Amino acid sequence: MSEPLTPKIEKVIKEDEEYLMQSFKRWYPLVIDHGKGALVYDIEGKEYIDFNAGIGVLALGHANEKIINAVKEQMEKFFHYSLTDFYYELAVEVAKKLVSFMPYPAKVFYTNSGTESVEAAIKIARGHTGRQWIIGFMNSFHGRTMGSLAFTSSKAIQRKSFSPLLPSTYLIPYPDKRNPLCKEDCTNQLLSFIEDWLFKKIVDPSEIAAFIAEPIQGEGGVIVPPKDFFSELNKILKKYGILLILDEVQTGIGRTGKMFAFEHFNVEPDIITLAKAIGGGLPLGAVVGRKEIMDLPPGSHANTFGGNPLALAAAKVVLEEVPKLLDHVTNVGRLIMDELKETRSPYLYEVRGLGLFIAAELRKGGQPYTEGLEKVLYNSFKRGVLPIGAGESAVRIEPPLIIEEELAKKGARIIREEIEKL
Ligand code: PLP
Repeated sequence: MSEPLTPKIEKVIKEDEEYLMQSFKRWYPLVIDHGKGALVYDIEGKEYIDFNAGIGVLALGHANEKIINAVKEQMEKFFHYSLTDFYYELAVEVAKKLVSFMPYPAKVFYTNSGTESVEAAIKIARGHTGRQWIIGFMNSFHGRTMGSLAFTSSKAIQRKSFSPLLPSTYLIPYPDKRNPLCKEDCTNQLLSFIEDWLFKKIVDPSEIAAFIAEPIQGEGGVIVPPKDFFSELNKILKKYGILLILDEVQTGIGRTGKMFAFEHFNVEPDIITLAKAIGGGLPLGAVVGRKEIMDLPPGSHANTFGGNPLALAAAKVVLEEVPKLLDHVTNVGRLIMDELKETRSPYLYEVRGLGLFIAAELRKGGQPYTEGLEKVLYNSFKRGVLPIGAGESAVRIEPPLIIEEELAKKGARIIREEIEKL
């Protein structure tokens, strides 16, 4: 399937294979040189439409002037000074801005990545409730460190050979019509499973600290749950004093056309986890939760780099700019979905998503068509578009939120044509 590489690109890839652990899965040989807005250029100068934003990170695109200026200005002041022992204004400023988007008084803990936000949320939930159990959902992705990995289950390879995982955890089906344990809309089925089976036979609810879920499963295939699922689930959790943690690492910061995806579902999670887009491309994560829950005692949790000032300078710009883009995200997302829905192919099973978080799932003979996905991704790349995969066989599209309509339509048309060629 693959075509010969230029010597320059081949050299980078060979040396990558020689010097880096190859535990990644790359879809095609893109070697980036630089980017601008929603465009990416490889080291041969070829231009691409960025349809993944560095896996949902670059909300404001590449080389955003405001971010560059804010980071430069901060660089002149100080690069680092750990919040574990000292104070700085920027940390408070960004936290104030973040909590202003929450539906209740909240507090923030800064981290460096998505998985670290999930680890912190687990500790906050256990520490606050004094309970041990955490319940997750099948087909989720919450990260790859040993705590978050207990809840990550979108592919068996993510867990293979790393057991034993965190104890006192349990995974239940996500409300996903593709799951054979679920009927078409399985909200009620799942809720009665939780109360009548999980709580009665597996773990007493008084021992459960929290449920953790992605409001839309991303890595698992961009699975959008029924509108009422989380609000109905939360009613049950509240009865038993169990916290709801929603992992907004990928869905947060405007990706779905709202600041946070939970806003689509009429639910108020007790804690949310953030990373990816919040730092505008610099490593930053955050846990945001109800003021009274964010109460781990002094000395019990910290990190050296969390809330790095350069990343926070970028985050300040991101949090100012993203709210202005939400209507644009909804409109452009609709344009991409409309284009994909026009695809004439027996292999297109479903186009789904919210805002600029979109998937086109491919199936052959009723089964995931992984080979078809690989072809579509590779051929789109050859034609200058950069989507990635999700789940076993879905084309995942999550461009920078600032992407222009014309670029978005062009990228979607190329993907559509590549699906039609299968
Ligand atoms: N949670 C969700 C929902 C994610 O999508 C991801 C990464 O894709 C993570 C957590 C882990 O984030 P990181 O790769 O920054 O550790």
